[in-house]
This record gives sequence, structure tokens and C-alpha cells, in this order.
Amino acid sequence: MNNHSVSRSLSKILISESDIQLRLKSMGQEIIQYSKSAGIDELTVISITNGSIVFTADLIRQIDLPLKLDCIRISSYQSSCSAVTEPKVIHTIRLDIQGKHILLLDDILDTGKTLRCVKDLLNALNPASLKVAVLLDKKERREVKMEADFVGFNIPNEFVVGYGLDFAEYYRNLPCIGILAKELQPQK
Ligand code: 5GP
Ligand code: MG
Repeated sequence: MNNHSVSRSLSKILISESDIQLRLKSMGQEIIQYSKSAGIDELTVISITNGSIVFTADLIRQIDLPLKLDCIRISSYQSSCSAVTEPKVIHTIRLDIQGKHILLLDDILDTGKTLRCVKDLLNALNPASLKVAVLLDKKERREVKMEADFVGFNIPNEFVVGYGLDFAEYYRNLPCIGILAKELQPQK
């Protein structure tokens, strides 16, 4: 059996598939309410791939507003459980976001370096507004000043996989979020 088979990879399921879907419904409502109260009638969603692909696909279907979607690709993690390099833009966006209302999506807010870097980069393109939504927030790991406007779940300081989040590019297809079994994590 492949070492990365799902059944023996997780030490614990942290957030179930149904809890994720329930929370995304309410997050969608929070984003709609905020947009209405701010007079925003169209959003430009920027998704940080690859990690946010699954989160983005499910969340945007809970946002009943006209929206455009674009992706930005950043790399900072290699096959390790901790950041080994500073965030680097690999593919940037194609939409013109000047004067647009941006909703920036990432899977997880950890040290904050990735979102800080992408937020600064997008702000330099003069959007009308920029809000950040993350599925997961590991507050105790923060190294730079960065908070999200919308947070799905606050989680403890554990390396998680599933629902878009990978380890060595595996596990993105798990429908839930789980803690990667210790014996599969690389020795630090
Ligand atoms: P930050 O720049 O905030 O430290 O990290 C953000 C990125 O690191 C996320 O988009 C994600 O790709 C990766 N990351 C941080 N924590 C985890 C984790 O627990 N599991 C996985 N799979 N990726 C993580
Ligand atoms: Mg990521």
C-alpha cells in the first residue's frame, strides 16, 4: 500500500466534512452581509493556489453576488512541515484589480508571511477594498502582523492536511481536515 494512503495517514480528524460545509455556509452569509453593508455589489476573489483550491470552490458557491475569480500561486513550503523559504510569487493574477473590491482567500493563516506578502502586493495595485478570508487560523504561530477578516476555524498548533492542504502534495483530496500522523512527518 502507498505510504500516503488516507486510512493510515491521519492521527486524528480535526474538522469533519459536514462541519466544514456548515461553516462555509455561514461564512458565505458573513461575506454577503459585509458586502451589502459596505455597498459592494461585485467581488473579485483572489485565491492562493494550490492550498485554497478546494476552499475556494466551495466558498464561492455560498456567495450569491456577482464575482470574478483569479488565482495567484505562491511557494514557501517544500516537502517539509515548516516554512523553508520566504513566500515567492510563481504565477501572478491576470485580472485588473484597480478600483475593485477584493476578497483574498487562503487555506490557512500560519506565520502570516504568505498573506502579508500577497496582501501588500495586491494593495499596491490600488483595489477599492481588500478583505481576507481563511479557512483555518493557527494564531499561536504568527510571526508577522497579519489578521484575517473572516476565519472559518481557529485551530491548535498542529500540522494539518486535507481539504486542499497538502503534505508533499498528497492529501489535498481528503474531504476533511486531519492531523498528519507523527510517523509521516519529516524529522526536523
Ligand atoms: P504562512 O505564510 O502563514 O506561514 O503559511 C501559509 C501557508 O503555509 C499556507 O497557505 C499553507 O500552504 C502552509 N501551511 C501552514 N500551516 C500548514 C499546515 O498546518 N498544513 C499544511 N498542509 N500547510 C500549512
Ligand atoms: Mg498555501
